Amino acid sequence: MEEEVKKLNFLEEIIEEDLKSGKYESILTRFPPEPNGYLHLGHAKSLCINFGLAQKYGGKTNLRYDDTNPVKEDVEYVDSIKEDIKWLGFQWEKECYASDYFDQLYEWAEDLIKRGLAYVDDQTQEEISKGRGTVDKPGIESPYRNRSVEENLKLFREMRDGVYADGEKVLRAKIDMAHPNMMFRDPLLYRIKHASHHRTGDKWCIYPMYDYTHGQCDSIEHITHSICTLEFDVHRPLYDWFIQTLGIFPSHQYEFARLNLTYTLMSKRKLLELVQKGLVAGWDDPRMPTLCGVRRRGYTADALKMFCDKIGVSKRDQLIDLQLLEWCVRQDLNARANRYMVVQDPVKVTITNYPEEQVEWFDCPLNPAEPEGASRKVPFTRELWIDRADFMEDAPKKFFRLKPEGEVRLKYTYIIKCDEVVKDGSGNVVELRCSYDPSTRPGSGEWRSVKGTIHWVSTRYAKALELRNYDKLFTLADMSQVPEDKDYKDFLNPESLTLGKGLAEPALLEDKSGIAVQFERTGYYVLDKDSTPDHAVFNRTVTLKDSYKPE
Ligand code: ATP
Ligand code: MG
Repeated sequence: MEEEVKKLNFLEEIIEEDLKSGKYESILTRFPPEPNGYLHLGHAKSLCINFGLAQKYGGKTNLRYDDTNPVKEDVEYVDSIKEDIKWLGFQWEKECYASDYFDQLYEWAEDLIKRGLAYVDDQTQEEISKGRGTVDKPGIESPYRNRSVEENLKLFREMRDGVYADGEKVLRAKIDMAHPNMMFRDPLLYRIKHASHHRTGDKWCIYPMYDYTHGQCDSIEHITHSICTLEFDVHRPLYDWFIQTLGIFPSHQYEFARLNLTYTLMSKRKLLELVQKGLVAGWDDPRMPTLCGVRRRGYTADALKMFCDKIGVSKRDQLIDLQLLEWCVRQDLNARANRYMVVQDPVKVTITNYPEEQVEWFDCPLNPAEPEGASRKVPFTRELWIDRADFMEDAPKKFFRLKPEGEVRLKYTYIIKCDEVVKDGSGNVVELRCSYDPSTRPGSGEWRSVKGTIHWVSTRYAKALELRNYDKLFTLADMSQVPEDKDYKDFLNPESLTLGKGLAEPALLEDKSGIAVQFERTGYYVLDKDSTPDHAVFNRTVTLKDSYKPE
């Protein structure tokens, strides 16, 4: 295969230029989650970009919690975010919080007031939004816009000191109510919120707005490339305005397209609703697109990184096929996952010419790609389970699994022939009486081949499993296209979870790999945390095969 020469993405181009021109000696990026929910696959893309660029160019990345809204935030989220980033294998330079900078931000606000660039507004929220005007119509100046510096300082300090109730006053920048970019029409800098903050407690009852916070935090930390999603494009001029007006370190903002995936929702607000309404089993329900959810599902960090690498970085919004993600998971697990045999819909096979008490332990590779690598021992006995789908009574010619008078190889062991089909009173097949050919034992003499090979499990040694077979959570491919008369919850897939049972070879329960395993010929499964010593629960990570191929 030809070695692909990868084109630089637009962020790499910018960074290479900045390093070459000497604008920066090294780069510093940041990942800025709001601790109001768990990280999802979209965040994985942002993490891979921010940490990936820093790694590639010998720079560093800060983890910065954007914790300016005390009402929705919680330490539970702060902790989970760190755990998820570590799981992906990234290490941040500094752990920072926007709230660490509240004092500095406050000082800067007083500075703006003193320079006549900010004022306290008594209008209600509705009055303020109404006064903003529209894209075609200039806004109207607030009647409080021309308060004196002294009055503004006094009122702002009173806001800080808790004199006013929530919503009674706000601090706004005094820029231009007729500005073509609506962001400049006297944006809000501070609002009153009498709420305890998970870090600053009750120290503050005024909290800075996103636009007034983000750029300055970047600047304080000397972030060189502040990378965010496209919807912040219109905020960039304001980001620059604050930095220039305050005359502080010139961080720059760059935007990329957010990740959208078919059959998937990634809004934290909606994910929270699914959790709160009990429509899923929690943030880490294996159907959730959260990082803890896909981890519980058995997706690996390497698969997610491979996926982020494949989708790349673009400036145009796109909807990525969920199958690409599943393909990456299969690629990664195919190379690494241990193999075991598990029967899900059992039918009994009796090998009539095999001694009743005999058991042979076959040494089988844990990964067929490494036949000389580690192995597991699989017991073979007279009575076995095979999957019902691997037998057919009136089989077409091309059916190469077991059929009356037909032969098949039991994986890793002998060839057997089906001599007799036993049915119950209602005509259901209950047993297949077969005979084995001892000369077909692998490694003994000449190899005889048959067209079909099927998996099996000894009835005497089988371990019972609970299987949770997961499918996509939603039935609508493009979840941004939910019709207006419908709710996104109307598209929940009623078959996103089907329960099943499995009978497994005993070595499965001794597996120490810590990642998903392959149930041979069916799919990848991972041990779930709901398991107990006498009850093993496995989640289906992904089915084994799919016709999907990435471009
Ligand atoms: P949500 O809309 O799901 O609540 P958010 O943008 O509010 O997400 P934050 O915690 O503020 O979530 O995001 C942290 C970082 O992750 C931001 O830089 C944001 O741009 C980025 N991010 C969020 N969602 C996506 C996504 N779907 N694709 C790529 N990056 C994303
Ligand atoms: Mg946000």
